[in-house]
Amino acid sequence: VDIVLVRGGRVLTLDDRATEVPRGDVLISDGLITAVGPDLVAPPGAQVLDATGDLVLPGLVDTHRHTWQTPLRHRGAQWSMDDYRDRLLGPVGARYQPEDVYAGTLLGALAALDAGITTLVDWAHIQNTPAHSDASVTALRESGIRAVFAHGWPIHPGGGPAQARTHPADIRRVRTDLLPDDAALVTLAMGARGPDYAGLPATRHDLALARELGIPITAHIASGRFGASRRGIADLAGAGLLGPDLTVVHANGAGDEDLRRLADAGCPVSISPQIELTMPGLGASVAVRRLLDAGIHPGLSVDSETVASADLFTQMRFALAAHRAGDPEQAGPPLPALEVLRMATVHGARTAGLTDRVGSLVPGRAGDLIVLRADAVGWAPVRAAADAVVLAAHPGMVETVVVAGRVLKRDGRLLADVARARDLATATAGRVIGPE
Ligand SMILES: [Zn+2]
Repeated sequence: VDIVLVRGGRVLTLDDRATEVPRGDVLISDGLITAVGPDLVAPPGAQVLDATGDLVLPGLVDTHRHTWQTPLRHRGAQWSMDDYRDRLLGPVGARYQPEDVYAGTLLGALAALDAGITTLVDWAHIQNTPAHSDASVTALRESGIRAVFAHGWPIHPGGGPAQARTHPADIRRVRTDLLPDDAALVTLAMGARGPDYAGLPATRHDLALARELGIPITAHIASGRFGASRRGIADLAGAGLLGPDLTVVHANGAGDEDLRRLADAGCPVSISPQIELTMPGLGASVAVRRLLDAGIHPGLSVDSETVASADLFTQMRFALAAHRAGDPEQAGPPLPALEVLRMATVHGARTAGLTDRVGSLVPGRAGDLIVLRADAVGWAPVRAAADAVVLAAHPGMVETVVVAGRVLKRDGRLLADVARARDLATATAGRVIGPE
């Protein structure tokens, strides 16, 4: 049994009462948290990590990232959503071979870990062949991250999301042969096209398939202008197809009535504040304030590193700013930083379909945590911990990362072959990008 004791830190449990232990220990045994509190005794053989004076938090949860796109980082700085579809999803995605999916997924997962993200929803709409699916799962497992592999659809030359097609049947093989265990480190979800792209009949088929397989579903619905031009949420609600197992990505184009429909059905929502505010066509708005008004606590997501940074600290700050910007008269109080931190942890866990498994440091939950250096020169003296994290933390402050009791980052360095992952991704970029 692997035992890890993280000792002497200022522990933000993110439990229901946001309990903070000023000088506490976290004990992880066999992959699960077994105790949180002051002065725990280290069992024989325990690996002891000193966190004296530092902040100890639950690992962060990224609820939607197209990890396969990592080799194409920052290429989309000037892209609109149409450019993203026509220049990336079509031609480049069709060129992706399984080894390119592997390279992108591995580098992206390592970057997520480096930034303190211990759970990643890998939104993989790059299932060109079954070997592509295998490559995604292999890379996620090798990285050591906790992942929900959201199995998507293939990208064919010349086209973005194919219209009115049903989900690839190979997801049955993935469920049976690759990811049958919902308690494993890597689990399965369906990354569905959803009603805005595939229409209601195909979506009805896809949701039934996912529910037959017993896996959660995630779909981009009401993204930017699609909220007004297509009726995805209303159609799903009318058909009785919404439910807590269906996570809606973006929803920033949804009207308040549609948000109420999501709230009534218990649908989680993943928001990507950085890309939603910066990519033309994605609406230039984040639904954070309207979601909270509707009673929905969203999870946060990076979405695509073609346009966004690899970490969730950036998303937290964009969410905070978007909330403020949604109240131009500044009539209401600012969003508390603690609530933003919950979006990146406990609310993210629910949005990822991992309710009660990750997102807080509570006995019985997964042994996933991060340690942030409190003495960093750009940070000390830290007083209110959640305020400091949300306003000013960055991946360089992430000293230690533990996933399921395995130490994956220590003393500020990833315990992985980063150079290999970088070289593979560089080679992929050279292969898949045509003349620019
Ligand atoms: Zn997306």
